[in-house]
Amino acid sequence: MQPQGRDSGQSTAVQAAGGDVPGQAPPFPDADLMYIADLLPPDERKRYLDVREFLQARVRAQSIDYWNREEFPFGLLAEMGKRGLGGLQTDGTSKLFKGLMYVEVARADVSLSALVGIHNELIVGMIHELGSEEQKRRWLPGLTAFTQLGAFALTEPDHGSDIAGGLATSARLENGEWVINGAKRWIGAGTIADFALVWARDEADQQIKGFIVETDRPGYTATKIANKIGLRIMQNADIVLDNVRIPEANLLPGATDFSKANALLRDSRAWVGWQGAGIQLAAFDVARSYSLQRRQFGKELARFQLIQQQLAEILGNASASLALMVQLARIQEEGKLEMAQAAMAKATTTRLARSSVAMGRSLLGGNGISSDFEMGKLFGDAEILYTYEGSYEINSLIVARAVTGKSAFV
Ligand SMILES: Cc1cc2nc3c(=O)[nH]c(=O)nc-3n(C[C@H](O)[C@H](O)[C@H](O)COP(=O)(O)OP(=O)(O)OC[C@H]3O[C@@H](n4cnc5c(N)ncnc54)[C@H](O)[C@@H]3O)c2cc1C
Repeated sequence: MQPQGRDSGQSTAVQAAGGDVPGQAPPFPDADLMYIADLLPPDERKRYLDVREFLQARVRAQSIDYWNREEFPFGLLAEMGKRGLGGLQTDGTSKLFKGLMYVEVARADVSLSALVGIHNELIVGMIHELGSEEQKRRWLPGLTAFTQLGAFALTEPDHGSDIAGGLATSARLENGEWVINGAKRWIGAGTIADFALVWARDEADQQIKGFIVETDRPGYTATKIANKIGLRIMQNADIVLDNVRIPEANLLPGATDFSKANALLRDSRAWVGWQGAGIQLAAFDVARSYSLQRRQFGKELARFQLIQQQLAEILGNASASLALMVQLARIQEEGKLEMAQAAMAKATTTRLARSSVAMGRSLLGGNGISSDFEMGKLFGDAEILYTYEGSYEINSLIVARAVTGKSAFV
């Protein structure tokens, strides 16, 4: 298959003379200048193109309205389920394919990419890797079909960056039942999920353990956090756990201390790195298309040198982010990915994303302020990527500790 752009009828002679590239549509419509999608084997490349087309056609435009209203598009979720986006973790596809799926979902809508990423990496992944046979039988079919949802409940009102040491939610084994008490904050899908994967400290041995808490259990209350400046489609919640009783068998048998979840937490950090690349492609798409339509001083914005420089910089940032993530996928595939690499990738692509959406925002002038033109939506969403899954600062500390041997956390 010919990669996009290579057959776009570009005339080297015209370009060398400084003229326009001939043709109606802009070259490289998908902005894949470095032919990254070509790295996929033919079957995955076909699936990637199909899903990308669906996301662009069905999800991208609709998501703006949902984002404005802070509502969750259950219909779109069902359509995403039909395309296998709920089962990326267990369907045997390559790390690169899974990563490029995260990119394309983020390019269509960052909130839904948060849902797809948390769902695959932290919910399906945790149950698949750390769950009992009974838990897998009960939950994995519905989860992978996207007909059921889980929420990953780690952060607390008083403990974010210091959660591993500070986690205060407690679990007590009493007459064959766990009794859970505490509070969680920012929990994605907390108000709509079938269960929350709650991390709580066992009073008996002080270890942090993972528990499946069905959301209809007495004592479980989830309140939507409204008025967010980004990720407005994702239903984040404050959760209160007031003497919630669950069967003893709801403990994830593989998650009997927090270190057992490390590999999955490392991989989920890498997922945000992919999101950082995807949001920049979205910013590029919007900025390019706007610059070709909007006219000032009698010509398209795209004809001004300063605008061209910004477009080139956004795409350069996006491509550098993607290239970093492609190499990450390679070492992940070889089983060599460590937390420092995932942290560097997450910190770097989200730092670049913040810069790219700021350029895109200014490129659209006043219209960059409104979410109706999508760029304002991306501008807000980038802030979340910068902060969740370990803030930019915390991920930087992880990287710098790995390369100096010195910890600067406290
Ligand atoms: C929209 C959204 C969705 C989220 N979804 C989930 C979810 O689904 N599940 C879940 O469990 N959590 C979720 N989170 C929580 C997220 O992971 C935390 O917000 C994040 O880890 C930061 O914690 P904090 O907000 O408590 O900030 P704090 O830890 O209070 O940090 C405040 C500031 O201090 C800085 N800081 C803290 N310690 C240090 C230090 N030692 N050195 C230098 N700087 C430091 C931080 O970088 C930050 O800038 C979500 C958050 C948001 C905003």
